[in-house]
Amino acid sequence: MTTRRKIAAGNWKMNGLQQALTEVEALSAANPAPGCEVIICPPATLLRSMAKRCAEAAINVGGQDCHQNSAGAHTGDISAEMVADTGATHVIVGHSERRETYGETDALVRAKTTAAWGAGLTAIVCIGETLDQRESGATLDIVGGQLAGSIPDGASGENLVVAYEPVWAIGTGKIPTYGEIEEVHDFIRARLVRRFGDTTGNAVRVLYGGSMKPDNAAEIGALSNVDGGLVGGASLKAADFGKIVAGLS
Ligand code: PEP
Repeated sequence: MTTRRKIAAGNWKMNGLQQALTEVEALSAANPAPGCEVIICPPATLLRSMAKRCAEAAINVGGQDCHQNSAGAHTGDISAEMVADTGATHVIVGHSERRETYGETDALVRAKTTAAWGAGLTAIVCIGETLDQRESGATLDIVGGQLAGSIPDGASGENLVVAYEPVWAIGTGKIPTYGEIEEVHDFIRARLVRRFGDTTGNAVRVLYGGSMKPDNAAEIGALSNVDGGLVGGASLKAADFGKIVAGLS
């Protein structure tokens, strides 16, 4: 039986100025020895100072995206090496907001994951269906296709975390039923085992994301094959995120 340490990952999205760094101190003070791995993904402007502040805390830091190339004429982008150079250890790739807003395809997400691994980062690869896709019964086909297309060969329990995030649950306050969450997570686990074998397939953590809150985190975290959460809005304030960390611990 594989034991997978749970993860509470916070995605701050485009939120947070320098003063928001104090949230990390509050989080750390409230959860000095969390029973789960804690990762905060602030905007790129805060990565370096966040990584410095978290060096002594039990908190890892991640970027929210990286370019697929290591350097070059890509105005406004940052490479995986640059993310790693800040002291970050993780990077989110393929978030639905990037897939939707910038038309990021599975092939591009796969290239970004390869770049993340090349820089020594753990990639948090996001997948998930839209409401139309769920209502038309296509959820498992969509999730299976994104999983196959977005993850390169060479995955391990250390370099890959998968985040299942139903697009319609992000920022809406709506979540699938617990049975629906388990169905998708069990399916993702089976696909990971089929592709990467028992050891790796059972070692990769699969997070749920989409309107996770203090009052549902523990119950969602206890579902089959749910190894924690990727949290947006409720990760911005230490008071809320600390409760989620506790709920997943
Ligand atoms: C997210 O954007 O990854 C997310 C899960 O957002 P929220 O928790 O706000 O739904």
